[in-house]
Amino acid sequence: MIDKSTRIAVIGGGLGGLTAAIALTQIARVRVTVFEQASQLGEVGAGVTVAPNAARVLDRLGVLEQIKQLGAVPDGHGVYLDAMGGMVTDAAWEDSAKHYQNIGMYRPDLIDALAQAVDSETVRLSHRLTSVEPLDSGVRLEFENGVDDVFDAVIGADGIHSVVRKAMGQDPEPVYSGYMVYRGVVDASRLPEDWPMISQVWMGNSRHFMCYPLQQRKLFNFVAGIPSDRPLNGPWSGPAEVSELAAEFAGNDWDPRLQHFIDLIDKTFWWGLFDHEPLSNWSQGPITLLGDAAHTMLPHQGQGVNQAIEDSMALATFLATTDGVSGIPEAFRRYTAVRMQRTAILQHGSRRAGAMFDAQHEFADLTKRDADIRVGRDFRRSAVFDYDAQKVAERALARFRKVQFA
Ligand SMILES: Cc1cc2nc3c(=O)[nH]c(=O)nc-3n(C[C@H](O)[C@H](O)[C@H](O)COP(=O)(O)OP(=O)(O)OC[C@H]3O[C@@H](n4cnc5c(N)ncnc54)[C@H](O)[C@@H]3O)c2cc1C
Repeated sequence: MIDKSTRIAVIGGGLGGLTAAIALTQIARVRVTVFEQASQLGEVGAGVTVAPNAARVLDRLGVLEQIKQLGAVPDGHGVYLDAMGGMVTDAAWEDSAKHYQNIGMYRPDLIDALAQAVDSETVRLSHRLTSVEPLDSGVRLEFENGVDDVFDAVIGADGIHSVVRKAMGQDPEPVYSGYMVYRGVVDASRLPEDWPMISQVWMGNSRHFMCYPLQQRKLFNFVAGIPSDRPLNGPWSGPAEVSELAAEFAGNDWDPRLQHFIDLIDKTFWWGLFDHEPLSNWSQGPITLLGDAAHTMLPHQGQGVNQAIEDSMALATFLATTDGVSGIPEAFRRYTAVRMQRTAILQHGSRRAGAMFDAQHEFADLTKRDADIRVGRDFRRSAVFDYDAQKVAERALARFRKVQFA
């Protein structure tokens, strides 16, 4: 078995890397070091939803209560609305057992909650990975600050531009969706008293606007998706003018309630929306990937972080039963086989959800689009929210063992 003498490096101290550190320490009981390029752990000042499939994992890792205290559980079902605010459908933001709900989190709060569950010795800040060299036994890592060290295994949780992935010879072209989003938060005390404490999505022709509560309902997150041919060969995000955002939803064919919400926005940022085609492989010997490094997806199903959290649990489950350090490559291959299938479906599903929200391609007919949204809501609950990453990994392990001994 592997144990505390097994040294595993996680590259990237984002939401994925920190969850991996917690899961690997608690479940695989190995010694983890997280290397983060930034001088402090942090996240953009926007929201993220912790979905039921990830809440289940975080509960088993003992951090869900803290997260709930910092976040906001909505009052009930979310709603999909047409541009004028007419109801298209409601959607249950919970699993079928009604045990786990979507939790709206201010990203800096989520990173703090995860960081608190990690031993401070575990995280090395200001360590930007520059080189990965597989050895006969283990992997040598070099950092920009001159530090180098050898680990038994390496996990790349270093985001869409992953250095670890490049070192494995996987460098997929980012695919621009043709869309950008405006993001930010609004002070909830400025909203009308009867503003519903739920998730709302307005879907017009070729653009959409989503909002939901965060931080014990003190803040409301917003994400507005707009088609854009803004040149994206420079930075992929930056500060933006609120007046530009307001102009996208102006006029008589948008809900005045939504326009009132936009009037309350003081500050916003833009992001270009990219993903990439599913990779052909995530693992090479004792090196593997997790989160956006492995499967960047569009945000339209709110599953990027949630999949990184599922990855972490699956990876720890496969590693926990590994027969010594020499068994790590096999554990990584099994992890990859199970996770690649799941995340490829969600990468494609997120593109499809974006096309639906924005009435693109086959969803240009709004009646058909609205019918598809209603079907998608039930599919999401059973296929996405009910998924138990730990159980799926355990069942796969049992199957792999049967094949091995047959
Ligand atoms: C508009 C928008 C809305 C979204 N909403 C949601 C949502 O509601 N729910 C959801 O689940 N997902 C959402 N996502 C997706 C989500 O943000 C990402 O999937 C998630 O942040 C990925 O986490 P990660 O830890 O894998 O990568 P990252 O967050 O990119 O973290 C990577 C970390 O690695 C570090 N790093 C990079 N290179 C190096 C290096 N060479 N050496 C050392 N460190 C390095 C970085 O500094 C960073 O800290 C959204 C995305 C967008 C754009």
